Amino acid sequence: MTRSCATAESAFLHGHSADEAMDLLSRALEIGVRFKASGDMYRDRADPRTLRDALLVPLPHRPMPTREVIGRFEMDVLPYCKNEASPRFMGFADTGSDVAALVGELLSVLVQQNLINQSFDSPTATFVEICVLRWMRELLGYPVADVAEVSSVWDVGGIVTSGGTMSNAVAMMLAREHHDPGTAAAGVRPERAGCVLVPEGIGHYSVRASLSWLGLGDRVVPVPTSGFRYDLSALRRVLRERSDEVAGVVAYAGDSRTQTIERLRAVSDLVREFSPGSWLHADACWGLAAALHHGLRGRLAGIETFDSITVDPHKVLNVPYSLSALLVREPQSLRSITSYADLIMQEEWAFGQVTPFLGSKPWWSLKLWMLMLRHGREGLHQIIERRSATLRSFTDAVDAQPSLVRLHEPDLFALAFMYVPPGEISTPADVVRLNLINEEIHDRLLEERSWFFHQFGLPDAHGVISRGAVLRPLRFVAGNPGTTDDHIRQAVARVVELGDLISGRRA
Ligand SMILES: *Cc1c(COP(=O)(O)O)cnc(C)c1O
Repeated sequence: MTRSCATAESAFLHGHSADEAMDLLSRALEIGVRFKASGDMYRDRADPRTLRDALLVPLPHRPMPTREVIGRFEMDVLPYCKNEASPRFMGFADTGSDVAALVGELLSVLVQQNLINQSFDSPTATFVEICVLRWMRELLGYPVADVAEVSSVWDVGGIVTSGGTMSNAVAMMLAREHHDPGTAAAGVRPERAGCVLVPEGIGHYSVRASLSWLGLGDRVVPVPTSGFRYDLSALRRVLRERSDEVAGVVAYAGDSRTQTIERLRAVSDLVREFSPGSWLHADACWGLAAALHHGLRGRLAGIETFDSITVDPHKVLNVPYSLSALLVREPQSLRSITSYADLIMQEEWAFGQVTPFLGSKPWWSLKLWMLMLRHGREGLHQIIERRSATLRSFTDAVDAQPSLVRLHEPDLFALAFMYVPPGEISTPADVVRLNLINEEIHDRLLEERSWFFHQFGLPDAHGVISRGAVLRPLRFVAGNPGTTDDHIRQAVARVVELGDLISGRRA
């Protein structure tokens, strides 16, 4: 008995005893936790060619003990890894700093359920996933069926996916099937495929990319915006002119640049009036945060009338990469994109049937289940409240500097701002120079490994510097629970110092 157990155990652990396995896994945990807690944003930097030459090596002939492999990782790989848990990392949300979520991620790796089917691959995991999807539906104002009414994956009203990009792609697939039913079987009929409206200049690339992945080609119609939201009269005009042709309309509850929340109710009313047959999709990758907060929830009013909603918990809840969900108002709408194979998913609880692009499917939802239980509604509100407070501190610190200018009023947790030296910015050449200064600030901060802000092109929609000009601001996101007022003061001071140096105001 003992013997057969031991044999089974070591076979199971590929040549390691259970004690050795525990040792190695504990070592991995120690390295990972120390890494997150180190405070460094990058321990080291090197140019890509140096890293390429160090890492692209032939596969060794001889085996290497696991402990040595770990050592190799610590020496050659880890020092150059980005640490989002460092409070110096201010450009995105911090992923994976919630301990309950990390525990969920680790356990999902260790227990290896496969969400493709319920019967033998994930007896309980499927229902944990459904539970989390129902929690999110409720937070966003979608109806939640009685438990007794849930008898298959088509009663759930959502799927868990790898990220916002995949969720948006599935939403576009639903728009396609809704506009020209049967396309999945018959193939795309170009003259009937319609178009998708997006707000100009602020959209996420995933919508345009998905339409091409789905064989629809470039069918995005950008509608003019004002202040990072749809210009509603322009939207009304386009909807009127192209009413029958519009397959889908996408609105952002927190766009990926300034996290501005759309006037969702107004957009929904216009679409229902002028193009009632089109699929209305809300990208709430960031906006999910507002749903968790008592004071911000009102900004999402109307989202519950949308046909589908993308949420990205890995952007707003400190859960590790990756986790997203696509929620649909009418659960049965997922029937139009169902695929079936008797090989592995001939059962009503098989998420494999309603999750396009994926076969075997990791248990991504466990980390969110653990995080939500850990915090409860009140704790989730507190997480978002803390972000709001951090954002207010940052905004105040920017406002206190005469040479810093912010480009918008923040809606959620992002602030795009620029260093602007004294003197007039009027000609295009002035704008080019201003952008160059801010690009150099960004690069120097990264080079010296002091602070990270994200940078991208952003039209000056509010006319703060030069209306319509494409600017290259720095973008702060209040996503890191470790960011203190002290960090904010130091980071802002360093931006001003570098700006002064680069623009020649300081020797
Ligand atoms: C990040 C983001 C996406 C894409 O999400 P991934 O999780 O990176 O795939 C889509 N839309 C918006 C608005 C985003 O901010």
